[in-house]
Amino acid sequence: MELCIIGSGYVGLVSGACFAEVGHHVVCVDNDKRKVEMLQAGKIPIYEPGLEDLVHRNVAAKRLRFTNSIEDGVDHSQVIFIAVPTPPQVDGSVDLTYIEQVAREIAGVLKKDAYRVVVDKSTVPVKTGEKVEATIKRYNRDADFDVVSNPEFLREGCAVPDLMNPDRIVIGSASNKATDLMKRLYEPFKAPILVTDINSAELIKHAANSFLSLKISYINAVASICEASGADVEMVADGIGMDKRIGRNFLNSGIGYGGSCFPKDVKAFISIARQLGTPFALLEEVERINAHQLNRFIDKIRDALWVLKDKKVAVWGMTFKPDTDDVRNSVAIDLINRLVSDGAHVTAYDPKGAEKAVDWKLVDPAKVRITKSPLEAVEGAEALILATEWKEFVNVDLAQVKAKMHTPLVFDGRNLFNPETMRELGFTYFSMGRPTVKP
Ligand code: NAD
Repeated sequence: MELCIIGSGYVGLVSGACFAEVGHHVVCVDNDKRKVEMLQAGKIPIYEPGLEDLVHRNVAAKRLRFTNSIEDGVDHSQVIFIAVPTPPQVDGSVDLTYIEQVAREIAGVLKKDAYRVVVDKSTVPVKTGEKVEATIKRYNRDADFDVVSNPEFLREGCAVPDLMNPDRIVIGSASNKATDLMKRLYEPFKAPILVTDINSAELIKHAANSFLSLKISYINAVASICEASGADVEMVADGIGMDKRIGRNFLNSGIGYGGSCFPKDVKAFISIARQLGTPFALLEEVERINAHQLNRFIDKIRDALWVLKDKKVAVWGMTFKPDTDDVRNSVAIDLINRLVSDGAHVTAYDPKGAEKAVDWKLVDPAKVRITKSPLEAVEGAEALILATEWKEFVNVDLAQVKAKMHTPLVFDGRNLFNPETMRELGFTYFSMGRPTVKP
């Protein structure tokens, strides 16, 4: 099938490459000229495992191409996906200006007698589909189209396998013709398809991300009780998670969730519920617990180091999760900036995210020294702080780490290391929801 994707970011680009991989012809559109030029030159603007090969292979096979022109994309496609940002506004509600602009632009190029399905893949509040449809109709009375909601559930860091083997595909549609086209489009993925009305599909996405955030905050609240009582949250999570009704995923205690989705989607769902007159206080508590995690962690660091001013502190990890270069709303970045404002001398290392953290001015390179290796970061450090659980850190020789540090204190914000091993190696080791160990 011929399809186009408007917005070639984490969702649009990876979806486009995966649709091409299963044999469709895909045009990825973006209004960022620099991004399109990079893609046309074979350079991939984001890091996502497996993406580069996938893009190159499908460009070479002439199934994938990139353009700045919505008209070019829409003209050549039966199905038009919208995958543009839906950022939060100050009050937590969703800024839908990108969606509205794209709806108007699509209306401007839709042709009479050329049926199109306009699919919203961005995460949007319930009832956005109705607005998209009304907007297109307002700007183009002759257009022949249906609007479909098809929320995306990929996880950054494993977006390619998530898209190639999704748990489910949700199609929110009010038209049999559009539903049939969507089913044909997704047929090669051999995944369960759930067809719903448009409002339900839109709601599924916010409800799912909010539930996952709730699971994280739940275990973080349990972690506080573990710390106060001397229990070990990892063991508790194992014990809870072995219950099939609960499951072990998303029961990892740490310094809280971040990134470009969970914080904004929880805020959005709270705002949507409030606007509909059905306030969702439980989610406000989820946010409160999440914000509290970083405070608890920083308190541990302050407690142990006493005064942070002029302390040399190494931070491992800057991205919001491993296997991505995405530093948007990363708790690790907040942590680094709070250490800097306390006067600490921070050296930071991240396998993929440091460049964007500096380019996007999220950290100030005049105040944070970025290193090229985890071992370089810990040279002379009075504390090592682990903020993102990259696998690379598990493979670092911890004996060498200890030898390079000035004082062997480790604060593990993601419970990546084994406390007993750390004790044996001679570290004083702090983690989340587990007893502190000393040599
Ligand atoms: P992104 O910022 O990585 O990409 C969005 C792209 O849209 C950018 O390249 C931008 O230049 C482009 N764009 C903006 N306005 C445009 C316009 N008028 N015409 C053409 N292109 C335009 O964002 P993302 O992370 O891919 O997220 C997109 C949507 O998908 C959001 O609603 C997000 O909540 C949702 N989502 C994201 C993820 C994720 O893990 N990143 C997962 C599921 C859903």
